[in-house]
Amino acid sequence: MSLLCVPLGRCPPGGAGQAACVFQVLLYTSLPDFCHKFLPGYVGGIQEGAVTPAGVVNKYQINGLQAWLLTHLLWFANAHLLSWFSPTIIFDNWIPLLWCANILGYAVSTFAMVKGYFFPTSARDCKFTGNFFYNYMMGVEFNPRIGKWFDFKLFFNGRPGIVAWTLINLSFAAKQRELHGHVTNAMVLVNVLQAIYVIDFFWNETWYLKTIDICHDHFGWYLGWGDCVWLPYLYTLQGLYLVYHPVQLSTPHAMGVLLLGLVGYYIFRVANHQKDLFRRTDGRCLIWGKKPKVIECSYTSADGQRHHSKLLVSGFWGVARHFNYVGDLMGSLAYCLACGGGHLLPYFYIIYMAILLTHRCLRDEHRCASKYGRDWERYTAAVPYRLLPGIF
Ligand code: NDP
Repeated sequence: MSLLCVPLGRCPPGGAGQAACVFQVLLYTSLPDFCHKFLPGYVGGIQEGAVTPAGVVNKYQINGLQAWLLTHLLWFANAHLLSWFSPTIIFDNWIPLLWCANILGYAVSTFAMVKGYFFPTSARDCKFTGNFFYNYMMGVEFNPRIGKWFDFKLFFNGRPGIVAWTLINLSFAAKQRELHGHVTNAMVLVNVLQAIYVIDFFWNETWYLKTIDICHDHFGWYLGWGDCVWLPYLYTLQGLYLVYHPVQLSTPHAMGVLLLGLVGYYIFRVANHQKDLFRRTDGRCLIWGKKPKVIECSYTSADGQRHHSKLLVSGFWGVARHFNYVGDLMGSLAYCLACGGGHLLPYFYIIYMAILLTHRCLRDEHRCASKYGRDWERYTAAVPYRLLPGIF
């Protein structure tokens, strides 16, 4: 570890970026999870993903929480004890690192494309549309892998981008203190609320194996470049804005933002947990203290086999068909409101998330309608609204 970190402060940004990325690859591939051995309730270690369209069930080494903890321990050790590099290092090299992230994003997407054509991990799960650019953008391979454990989708979705998210925010807070002599409550709110979201992601990494990104999307530029560039650079705009415009919120404003962020997070987490629990227990669970209402459904996979599944009609899944997205949107709005009303830039995130999640909702419903047919129609009759009851 020290070999990787000692030279960082003196490294050119490209070298530092590469070292950080190699460090994350090592943490992912070489350090089996130990967090599940001492953190009650945390599910880590080797876990199974969902059945792919070709009927494959992949195994994953879930160790993201451990990678996040070790990376942040090193960050704090550096800031308070070791002083190998300045905690403002990310902010100070923001533009050179953007170049590095782009090179990585395009290299990974191009490699994934070539791999899909010439040496795919599971040929039966590849998708060729006949349109070269679409294949590049949306991906050919479903779950590209190198060796037994290096899974492109799991690695690039979570690391380096999501590990970096909280580090980037910490670097912005350090820069604000350096430039203005103090860290404002707005910067603290953005750091805390986004850290809750990031830690939640890693705490629930096993659940993440069942989300659309892993279960349905192929790995191409959309995920490869998106995870390396779009996520770390655009999801962190609030912190960046606050470095240049140090907003100090009134106490009622700050409390309002905190409340919105926490309620949003609660809805997001509980809704996702309800579906996960329901699917894991095959409906043998309690949702809001009662036996859940269920719609039994069936579908045929690409290999012609008939499968049975269940749709949950209780809890938040009975309020609207994607109420988990509503919680996410409330949290996203809270990050933006923390920046006050001085500029539109920090509101990019909520505008983007509203478009992303509305589009995702429509895309998912289209897929579910063709997968479940009449059974999906029964669900939409029982739960008529997509996001907001009475509105949409
Ligand atoms: P969901 O977790 O909502 O998963 C949708 C899938 O769940 C459907 O395809 C279907 O899959 C199944 N499903 C749908 N309705 C039901 C039901 N009533 N009962 C049981 N299963 C059902 O979607 P995502 O994976 O998109 O999102 C997961 C979370 O991640 C969300 O909270 C979202 O806000 C967040 N997210 C955040 C992003 C960010 O950039 N910050 C980006 C994307 C998502 P099946 O085929 O198995 O039936």
